Amino acid sequence: MNEMARWPRTNDIVLVPTMGALHEGHRELIRTGQALTKKKGTLIVSIYVNPTQFNDKEDLKSYPKTFEQDYELCKEEGVDLIFYPSDSEMYSGIESVSVTEKKIAQHLCGTARKGHFGGVCTVVTKLFNIIKPTAAVFGKKDYQQLSIIKQLVSDLCFPIEIIEAETIREQDGLAISSRNQFLNTEERKQSPAIHEALVAMTLSAEKQCLELIKLGKSIIETKAPLSKIDYLEIVDRQTMEPMQTIDRAALAAVAVFLGNTRLIDNIEINYLSENSANLQR
Ligand code: AMP
Repeated sequence: MNEMARWPRTNDIVLVPTMGALHEGHRELIRTGQALTKKKGTLIVSIYVNPTQFNDKEDLKSYPKTFEQDYELCKEEGVDLIFYPSDSEMYSGIESVSVTEKKIAQHLCGTARKGHFGGVCTVVTKLFNIIKPTAAVFGKKDYQQLSIIKQLVSDLCFPIEIIEAETIREQDGLAISSRNQFLNTEERKQSPAIHEALVAMTLSAEKQCLELIKLGKSIIETKAPLSKIDYLEIVDRQTMEPMQTIDRAALAAVAVFLGNTRLIDNIEINYLSENSANLQR
């Protein structure tokens, strides 16, 4: 960590924070970062499975660790530096100071995973302070996290540009995730229903959120009978507060258990005012 902190900074530094087990979604973030550094900046990927953001010890224990493969993927993509700290480098063992976001984190995964976003905010603050990037790339796959990080950067005055990357999916629509490998054959077969439900919600002309949620839930329940919906909500894209009608840009966000595996996904629902809808006719 000290080595990283003393490392000379002459150009722009773009950071891609990850927990490793790198896949095509992470590759997209790295490529977005590469495009930003435009060959003269430095692209850093951090790989750290942050214990404080896991509310379930078993989940932390089973989180996949594949450093050799991660190293190869980073090499293939021309990453300049991998920051791969140990727990003792990241946490002093005292931990009397932490970072908490108090509003956006009250919703969605914040209720289901107590303490999760506090852990995320604390570790991202540490990464920002150690690496001092000029920009950092986060995925829309974790939309609530992205929104919280934007608030963190704004409220704590970090001079860091937050860049958003689109969600990368398998051909059948399942959002790529390190956790997908835990799905058994039948669960994997049913999993595209999640994205299918979100797409149906965004394509529907229905404006009442309750009706849209009913539609999404019925698709998941019919096409993925092994699933248990943790939440399916339509929320404001910035605050994550539930919405009643689609009267502004919205987000449909979902968390589903397939067996023991908890998958999250989301889709943006655009708002077309009466006027712009008329213009399109
Ligand atoms: P993780 O390693 O799961 O903590 O994720 C690190 C970063 O990769 C986060 O900004 C995620 O939003 C992003 N990410 C994870 N999965 C995907 C995906 N399928 N497509 C795009 N970005 C992703």
